[in-house]
Amino acid sequence: MTQARPPATPDSVSNANSPASPSNVPDANQPAAQTCSTCKDRRVIVIDPGHGGTAMVGGSSPNNATAVSGVLEKTLTLQYAQTLKQHLDGEACKSIFRGRGYADVQVVLTRTGDTNPGLSTRVNVAKTNKADIFLSIHFNGGVAAARGTETFYKAGSNGNANLGEDTALAQTVQTALFNAMKSIDGGAKDRKIKPDTDTKHKSLGILRDPGIGYSGKMCRSVLIEVEFISNHQVDALLVSGGRASANRSTLMLAVARALANSL
Ligand SMILES: [Zn+2]
Repeated sequence: MTQARPPATPDSVSNANSPASPSNVPDANQPAAQTCSTCKDRRVIVIDPGHGGTAMVGGSSPNNATAVSGVLEKTLTLQYAQTLKQHLDGEACKSIFRGRGYADVQVVLTRTGDTNPGLSTRVNVAKTNKADIFLSIHFNGGVAAARGTETFYKAGSNGNANLGEDTALAQTVQTALFNAMKSIDGGAKDRKIKPDTDTKHKSLGILRDPGIGYSGKMCRSVLIEVEFISNHQVDALLVSGGRASANRSTLMLAVARALANSL
């Protein structure tokens, strides 16, 4: 059984890091429930399924890694993004949002089909929607033995204006994702959080803060590399095996809860 939640007063959500006070009661003198796009109890999460389509567009390659079984990274990133959205839209996360005083949490994907928006187009989805969190989903490829889960954030030397917040979110997401991976497979490996200076091109174009200077509020941005799909065991676990769908759900539920608790 559920009870209708009283509308949050502005004071209950003035600090995004504090849960709503239980002593908050509706105040008849307060204006009716706000529906504007700048309400303090509205939050937006943008999920970016990496790659897509068949051609390079605006710095975004159509595909990078390919699983041992032949499934493309771009297909997996979309499946994972859709599963993550389902969990964020589900009752478990809604309950977390209510507890934190957020009446309206919207989850937006940068693509919903096999298309390849350019990097700035993807970032603009976060900017246009005044996102609070931007999470890009990728999978690694490499030598057959390579394993592990890692999360990237924009380095300070690459101009990150909210390095502390991005690093904290990256660690929260990494811990949740790695622990979930460990729960389904003893071979899980924590490759930790890393600045984007640790990548081939010393920078990840997708990790820009679309908020500062644009929408007027900070948007934390991180990129997860779920695992190496070039590894046989990972392919069986996450791509081609009988439990791949259930394992995807386990991993994305962990990330969904981490994001919900980080809003
Ligand atoms: Zn990728």
